[in-house]
Amino acid sequence: MPDVLTLGEVMACLRADGQVRLGGTARMSVAGAEANVAIGLTRLGHDVVFVGAVGPDQLGELVRRTLRAEGVGIDAIRTDPAQTGIVVFEQRVAGLTRVDYHRHGSAGARLSVSDVAEAFEAIPAPPRILHITGVTPALGEGPERAVRAAVRLARAAGARVCLDVNHRNRLWSETLARQVLTELAAEADIVIASDDELPLAAAGDDEASRVRTLLAGGVAEVVVKRGPAGATVFTADQTLTLPARPVTAVDVIGAGDAFVAGYLSGLLDGLPLDGRLARAITTGAFAVGGHGDWEGAPTRAELSMLDLPDGTAVR
Ligand code: ADP
Repeated sequence: MPDVLTLGEVMACLRADGQVRLGGTARMSVAGAEANVAIGLTRLGHDVVFVGAVGPDQLGELVRRTLRAEGVGIDAIRTDPAQTGIVVFEQRVAGLTRVDYHRHGSAGARLSVSDVAEAFEAIPAPPRILHITGVTPALGEGPERAVRAAVRLARAAGARVCLDVNHRNRLWSETLARQVLTELAAEADIVIASDDELPLAAAGDDEASRVRTLLAGGVAEVVVKRGPAGATVFTADQTLTLPARPVTAVDVIGAGDAFVAGYLSGLLDGLPLDGRLARAITTGAFAVGGHGDWEGAPTRAELSMLDLPDGTAVR
């Protein structure tokens, strides 16, 4: 039985060493919110199935090879006639990254209900957790239907559903995002959002009332990420805030995805609320402390490294 099934678009990614308009060198890798979470989880020893589509091109091979190398199950990644999407990152000044997407009409955006249905049929037993994000439904009607189908199948099979709101304002209007994300959040067991994204997932005048709306609607855990200020988890009978771990931030992209991987890992391990929030804060800190969307994700053995004093050489 896979621990986690997730779905979405994985793109090839280019990280320019300088400004894109000036040319020069770039490093090639892969990126995508759900893939980042998938890798974060396999690094910690969990079994993850990824459902998606890539093009019949070398960038698609790069995506497959990278996920396979990181131990993510790729049997449910279909080859689509469209091209693999590309994302270009340019660190314009320290702490400020410009992101350019080339994903319109891409293979990943042609994810469909049948991809999801086939993936659920192919696995020997349902996953323990389905992880979805707000990026996938923003890619178009096909991916939105695929996400809804995944939620239906997961719930019917008794799997827990985790939604990371992950709002991408360049992919869809705020009105549509609010409508779809509110509906998906109401079906989820765990809702994770940045503090500024929570209004898209639940009605209410302030954070407390939005959290109450979600919990009253059947969500078991609401997790609010607060960047360098840490994160808070709310359940029906507990509210717990932990500060971020002190690290030198070199690249904040992917922090949220790494955080989600840590949180779900804690849940899969049966950790209590404070344990899973602490693991999420730790994996989030690893992501901001290193370069890349997922490259800095810790293995299980590395989780305790941040407890060591600054300047330690681990021999
Ligand atoms: P997102 O990447 O989705 O915007 P956040 O920026 O809130 O999410 O980051 C997710 C988590 O990563 C935070 O809750 C925190 O635990 C950790 N984190 C983010 N920024 C820092 C930082 N500068 N130092 C240490 N931890 C951080």
